[in-house]
Amino acid sequence: MTIFDIITADKPSLSFEVFPPKTSAGMENVRAATQEIAALKPSYMSITYGAGGGTSAYTADIAAGLQQLGVPTMAHLTCVSSTKAQVRAQLDLLRAKGIRNILALRGDIPQGMTIDHPEYRYASELTAEIRDYGGFCIGGACYPEGHPDSATSAEDILGLKRKVEAGCQFLTTQMFFDNNILYNFMYRIREAGISVPVVAGIMPVTNPKQIKRICAISGNTLPSRFIRIVDRYSNNPAALRQAAVVYAAEQIIDLYANGINAVHVYSMNKPEVAREIQAMVSEIIR
Ligand code: FAD
Repeated sequence: MTIFDIITADKPSLSFEVFPPKTSAGMENVRAATQEIAALKPSYMSITYGAGGGTSAYTADIAAGLQQLGVPTMAHLTCVSSTKAQVRAQLDLLRAKGIRNILALRGDIPQGMTIDHPEYRYASELTAEIRDYGGFCIGGACYPEGHPDSATSAEDILGLKRKVEAGCQFLTTQMFFDNNILYNFMYRIREAGISVPVVAGIMPVTNPKQIKRICAISGNTLPSRFIRIVDRYSNNPAALRQAAVVYAAEQIIDLYANGINAVHVYSMNKPEVAREIQAMVSEIIR
């Protein structure tokens, strides 16, 4: 089953995201954590990709291992710091391992790396290439609060439109902490004629350091209710985790209730967080 089939089915979907280790030394721990999440039988799991390309084989390996456990997977693939030959090799690898879904991304040039003549500028170029290669269901990223590189939200939506025209079959959102931001974004993209399904990305923020990093990268708006929780519990990791799980679950329930049928949780290789969130919505997604 492709991700498109899963997220357009009547049953609400709940999926989880994991990331590969930076070196082979971390593989055992990552494998154990991802397998624990797979045991929850989520709708699907996605595996991120290091934009530098150094861990590219791990993404495919982890995805293939999870598929053997019966969980549909989606491999992320970035292009901005890759050559066409490297992208082609990764597509060959994913095909050989039986992966059928790709989240096609531009990525960001890693710190300390310079590229004189980038072979890709935008995710839409990668998307068109994967479409022409054939055999993959292709997703892309979108940003309810706008991508930091876009000067205006109209420019951002235009970029998104090009990506969809290039063959992107569905979109997964960057995290957001106020559902009204997503509902407003949905209205604007539908008005602009973008009709592909949208998967809402939800991040349970269990670590206060994450929040600073996330806001610096993505410019997310943090509602005061959210800031108060972090301020109150940042010195109590167990309490913060519990509050983060409840906050995320409340967001998810509200999304399902408002007709957003597909939710992707940035579970960050944390099986306990994935388990607790899934338990909180178990009757809703049954
Ligand atoms: P694009 O869609 O190319 O957009 C980037 C910018 O260019 C936007 O401002 C857009 O409006 C503009 N634009 C797009 N097309 C055009 C055009 N034709 N003309 C002019 N402007 C244009 N990063 C990783 O390294 N690995 C991952 O695994 C990963 N997974 C992610 C998963 C999700 C769900 C999300 C939301 C992000 C993920 N990222 C990942 C981060 C992502 O790579 C960065 O946010 C990156 O800066 C943008 O990638 P993109 O695919 O959205 O780029």
